[in-house]
Amino acid sequence: MMLPYDMPPYRPPSEAYSVLIRATRGCPWNKCTFCGMYKDERFEIKTVESIIKDIEAARAFYGPNVKRVFIGDSNSLVMKPKDFIEVLRYLYENFPTLERVTTYARAKTVRRRKLEDLRAIRKAGLTRLHVGLETGDAYLLEFIRKGATPEEMIEGGKKAIEAGFELSLYVLLGIGGEDRSRDHARHTADVLNAIDPHFIRVRTLVPYPGTPIFDQINEGVFNPASPKTILTETLTLVENLNVHSEFLSDHISNLVNLNGTLPADKPKMVDAMREILTEIEEKPELLETYFKPRDYRCL
Ligand code: SF4
Repeated sequence: MMLPYDMPPYRPPSEAYSVLIRATRGCPWNKCTFCGMYKDERFEIKTVESIIKDIEAARAFYGPNVKRVFIGDSNSLVMKPKDFIEVLRYLYENFPTLERVTTYARAKTVRRRKLEDLRAIRKAGLTRLHVGLETGDAYLLEFIRKGATPEEMIEGGKKAIEAGFELSLYVLLGIGGEDRSRDHARHTADVLNAIDPHFIRVRTLVPYPGTPIFDQINEGVFNPASPKTILTETLTLVENLNVHSEFLSDHISNLVNLNGTLPADKPKMVDAMREILTEIEEKPELLETYFKPRDYRCL
């Protein structure tokens, strides 16, 4: 019998068709000011026995021909490496056609793990790490209580790649607000350039009631970025990127759907953003177009 899942389940959009197996519950950090994901859940690392029961239930439900699994919740690498490896072994035994097994991880946890342990986890079949960078700006990382410095983000990211993982880094557009947007874009590009991840995935800040950043807006401590600022920030970010990565706007929160393979598509992406900004300059009423989806952007 599968254990009850806390709803809604959190996973990257790219894992929409993956079987979800939880190794942990909630977030061991749970302090980021923009995040409302696991606020009502007490963090716990599940026992290997209970994860195995879930894998058996998933196998009974989906059959053996599963291709993709996402291991939740927010930082599975806090598990003991030998336990994680046992879970992976059991997953591959039950789903022999598995092609991809991914999980969320914090850069700081990756940084702390021994390289040999990371390599052993990779060898056991964990293929990709989804890591929240959010910003590469030191001031902002502290302001949003991300719990890692730009240097730690770089060390964690490089170590993940060295261990053999595909690395997917998440950037939060708008997290610099109106006042630090340019610093956010430039310093984020610096960190991404230093890591050179396989994927860069952008999301745009949508402040949720109940999160500290929502209160900071009401208190006048945080000045949210306008759509025009966010679009300019996107342009500055792409202009400053010097990476070999898939750049993806695969989230409903984003104002524009900007995707491409870097560096080949950089000129096209820069042109597209410049065109949008010129259009807005000439016809400010077009900004409405970018405002409108806001109602839907917290889905
Ligand atoms: S953003 Fe990630 S690390 Fe930060 S509180 Fe949310 S789940 Fe935890």
